[in-house]
Amino acid sequence: MKCTVIGMWGGFPKKSEPTSGYLVQKDGFSILLDAGSGVAAHVQNHIDLNDLHHVFLSHYHYDHSVDIGAFLFGRMISTQLGRVDKVLNFYGPSDKGVEKQVNKVKNNRFHPYGKDSTFKVGPFSIVFHKNAHTVETYAMRITDDNGRVLVYTADTSYRKSLIRFTEDADVLISECSLYAGTDGEKMGHMNAEEVGNLAAKAGVKRLILSHLPHYGDLDELAASAKAAGGENVTLAEAGMEIEV
Ligand SMILES: [Zn+2]
Ligand SMILES: [Zn+2]
Repeated sequence: MKCTVIGMWGGFPKKSEPTSGYLVQKDGFSILLDAGSGVAAHVQNHIDLNDLHHVFLSHYHYDHSVDIGAFLFGRMISTQLGRVDKVLNFYGPSDKGVEKQVNKVKNNRFHPYGKDSTFKVGPFSIVFHKNAHTVETYAMRITDDNGRVLVYTADTSYRKSLIRFTEDADVLISECSLYAGTDGEKMGHMNAEEVGNLAAKAGVKRLILSHLPHYGDLDELAASAKAAGGENVTLAEAGMEIEV
């Protein structure tokens, strides 16, 4: 499978660089992980919106979900114009408000999930890990039909349970909101040292640091993650393509 980073900033987007969004594709089938600020616009550099039918949301903070509205109206208007007649499916933590918001717009459908859910869509199978964040949030483990594995942490503070969930992943896209030495427990985020630790303990082959902070020298994040044992560490960039 191939994963294209659509956006990688934490909190808010930068010029031409959205917050969280990752397009995962194999054999012409596509799923999108998270729909942060700017993702609906920028994902179109890589796919026509009418060819995207599955969006997985980790949680409902703006930097992961605010573009739901753009996707909903995109599908509604394209349906009215006769350009598409397939449902756009949203998968997210159970939430009556979001469910109502999605289901009331023509040709969009909401599918709630929890920690024990599994979805099989196209060549992908997706399972979830309940994170430690300020709202209900899930990490996702995506396995393709060749057994290749991509794990996306979404937002979370460090938990031992993430090690098993991430075990032997070919690629880990991890949030890396904080510099080494900063305690992320209360904020529900990880620092670079914790991310490197997680990748090393889980035996991850390639580590991509994402959900990046708007301050400091980002290269220090990569250096700290490597020092903590992370293999093959790269900072995420908008438009970056990752072969998994
Ligand atoms: Zn976030
Ligand atoms: Zn969050």
